[in-house]
Amino acid sequence: MFFSAGLPLVILVLCLPASPQQAAKHVLAFYSASVERDHVIFAEQALKFFASDAKAHGFEFSSTTNWDDLNATTLQGVQLILWLNDSPHSPAQRAAFERYMEHGGGWMGFHAAAYNDESTGWPWFVNFLGGAVFYGNNWPPLPALLDVDDHSSEVTRRVPPHFTSPANEWYIWKPTPRANPAVKVLVTLARSNYPIGLKDTIQGGDVPVVWSNTRYHMIYMNMGHGDKIFDSPGQNRLFEDAVESLLSQRR
Ligand code: ZN
Repeated sequence: MFFSAGLPLVILVLCLPASPQQAAKHVLAFYSASVERDHVIFAEQALKFFASDAKAHGFEFSSTTNWDDLNATTLQGVQLILWLNDSPHSPAQRAAFERYMEHGGGWMGFHAAAYNDESTGWPWFVNFLGGAVFYGNNWPPLPALLDVDDHSSEVTRRVPPHFTSPANEWYIWKPTPRANPAVKVLVTLARSNYPIGLKDTIQGGDVPVVWSNTRYHMIYMNMGHGDKIFDSPGQNRLFEDAVESLLSQRR
């Protein structure tokens, strides 16, 4: 009896079914093919990049140019939405996105996806971004030195503390999202870049480039203009890890 006391437990453990294979998570990218040419080029490259990322990391990836796919039925099996170069314009699309995000959905937006001004007419979205309103940009697109604000984040842990980001059109925001206590800024335009631009110049100031409004499962990245964005292996790790981080927050 003494020697067999542990046996029932062993049998129980051996009889437990193997943990079921987790269903692959699904990432759905939205983009527009009729916007500024440099934004379309970025989107086309991003589709290839994330399709390959999906194979490497075991998630499903699909894309659409139909923003009406922002609806409850389509989004049901989607763990993460990407907006590559645009944002929804119809009230129904916007309402579906609000519901999705307010109920724990995941979002990563690039560059023009967060563009908003007085004509946008979507206050919820400005709050979602942490309060950021587009204020200006440099021109032409130029490479820039970026500072990582928080190395402890799983999004930035594989990125060098300071790195050169390929040519991009950098956006300035007023107010800066950093003013919002719910916002975690992950990457910022280094001050050593100033002044940056020729025709339009950013003279100075605080320019967050990657941030999260921690009230949501969301990350915004300002990169996304032209055909150079994926030229930096270091920066590519940032994109991959942001997707992994957002997917890990989803069931
Ligand atoms: Zn642009």
